[in-house]
Amino acid sequence: MANFGFIIDNRRCIGCHACTVACKSEHEVPLGVNRTWVKYIEKGTFPDSQRHFSVMRCNHCDNAPCITICPVTALFRRDDGIVDFDSRRCIGCKACMQACPYDALYIDPESHTAAKCNYCAHRVDNGLEPACVIVCPTQAIISGDLDDPDSTISKLLASEPVTVRKPEKETLPRLYYIDGEPESLDASATDVGGHGMWNRQTRGVGHYARYTEQRVAAIFALSHRSPAQNHSGPEGGNGENEPASKVPGKMASNRVGHVAPSRAPAVVLSKRHPLDDLRNLLGLDDPCNGVVNSDPSSRLPPAAPRSVESGTPRRVYDAPNKGVLWGWQVSAYVWTKAISSGAGLVAALIAILAPTRLTPSGERIAWIVALVFLALTGLMLVADLDRPRRFLYVMLRPQWRSWLVRGAWIINAYAIVLAIWFCVLLAGWSLADGWLPWLVAPIALLTAAYTAFLFAQARGRDFWQSHLLVVHMLVHSLIGGSATLCALASTTDPEWNAVVGRMLIAALIAKLIVDAIELSIPHGSPDSRRVVQMIVRGRFARLYRWGVVAFGCCLPVLLLLPGATGLTILAGVVSLIGLYLAEHIWVRAPQLIPLS
Ligand code: SF4
Repeated sequence: MANFGFIIDNRRCIGCHACTVACKSEHEVPLGVNRTWVKYIEKGTFPDSQRHFSVMRCNHCDNAPCITICPVTALFRRDDGIVDFDSRRCIGCKACMQACPYDALYIDPESHTAAKCNYCAHRVDNGLEPACVIVCPTQAIISGDLDDPDSTISKLLASEPVTVRKPEKETLPRLYYIDGEPESLDASATDVGGHGMWNRQTRGVGHYARYTEQRVAAIFALSHRSPAQNHSGPEGGNGENEPASKVPGKMASNRVGHVAPSRAPAVVLSKRHPLDDLRNLLGLDDPCNGVVNSDPSSRLPPAAPRSVESGTPRRVYDAPNKGVLWGWQVSAYVWTKAISSGAGLVAALIAILAPTRLTPSGERIAWIVALVFLALTGLMLVADLDRPRRFLYVMLRPQWRSWLVRGAWIINAYAIVLAIWFCVLLAGWSLADGWLPWLVAPIALLTAAYTAFLFAQARGRDFWQSHLLVVHMLVHSLIGGSATLCALASTTDPEWNAVVGRMLIAALIAKLIVDAIELSIPHGSPDSRRVVQMIVRGRFARLYRWGVVAFGCCLPVLLLLPGATGLTILAGVVSLIGLYLAEHIWVRAPQLIPLS
């Protein structure tokens, strides 16, 4: 079995975008999104300046985090190493986009499912090379079997120094660059917010393509595509809601790694590159022939002489930025989950540590809060999906390594525990009467903490890789639970108010300590440091300092000290607002770091 990979030979690339166009044509990729694109950067100062090109796409990683995080096996590795996808399974959770450190995936604005370069698997299955390889006029894209020592790609790999993007991510990319320009391959080396016509990347369509559909539809109406193609819609196509027009090369993968032969078109198998014909016509030698046995410098066009470069590298052309992938729904989901798990956790802790303080009315309120906010958590999770009707796939077609799947089952387990607790209350018993708090507490802890492991699987976001994230989630759960119970405090239950108030003070102080550690310890990755910078001194500094620290943490502590019920309620409300702001910053800030 082959083991496919790509080489991008930057000595040959002329930045013509033929690969981008061929890919769009082959896969009918909609406007505003790309499976492969060419990024331009410029270095130096005129007249001593140079332009560099980098072809960007899926790296078909050996250790692909997109596959690990995908909850429904929509992304998978074929036996030949190609990382392919099945849009009929995709629920549009965008976790793969957060996990991919290379920005290779996008949400298709027509099918609302994730898509990316799939190495033209349908062409490979028919003995053809990917469309971008065939179209490239300078043979700058080389595909082939990495395990075949006689393949051009293996010979080039053996003879030329190559580089990959972000090797520190340990994804083992199988897309190699010859003469890759470090400032072009490093997303952080150039600014994404330039003022030129083609380098302003901050207003891309990407995930938010649905909000630009009207504009795109107007452009489609002017294009040559037929109405049937344009408006087949996500529900009107092949198989399971997949638009027929999205089937690459009109062939459908009906199973993982299997192409339905009956749908395969009649193709003429030819591996000859169009350039070969031109070369034969002109009587020229193939510069790749004898690639290993000859002197490397003699078989390729001479590299352009490098001048001494100065000035800041500038991004002068790029694909649109995909924006924030997980918006307010995810911040709200983390917030409601913290409240739900926290309410159960606080009640269970009181039942274990101070059973006499667990009043019947307080216990009932805790149970209601846990249940209502758990339901809201589920709603937020579904609301964030780009294919919300497929949410049950997480349970029915699980990919067990994904913390999205594990989290869904942890939430189910918590719901079952809440149901048992309801039966206990119905029977007139209390959480403090038996073993139940020992069941509620660990499941509530798991419910609170699992999102830290899910975020850690989002390998594209360095700040979420912090080991402290799980501590943040636990502390936020305690704040969410105790603050909501404080906000619902009643004048007839002063003992209960006092105990949840003390728990809230402890949780808020713990948050200040954990945040101080997180924001002051040295972070290994530059992207994490940039996020810390954004929170401490940058665009989130004011919101964090005044909204989270002063308003959300310090003020409620002061309000709780006198012990008056009215102030307890106010402290609870204020803490909940501060907690939401903290979740918003922690979810949003890392997503503002460009990945490509
Ligand atoms: Fe492709 Fe990104 Fe997945 Fe690697 S992690 S296989 S680059 S989509």
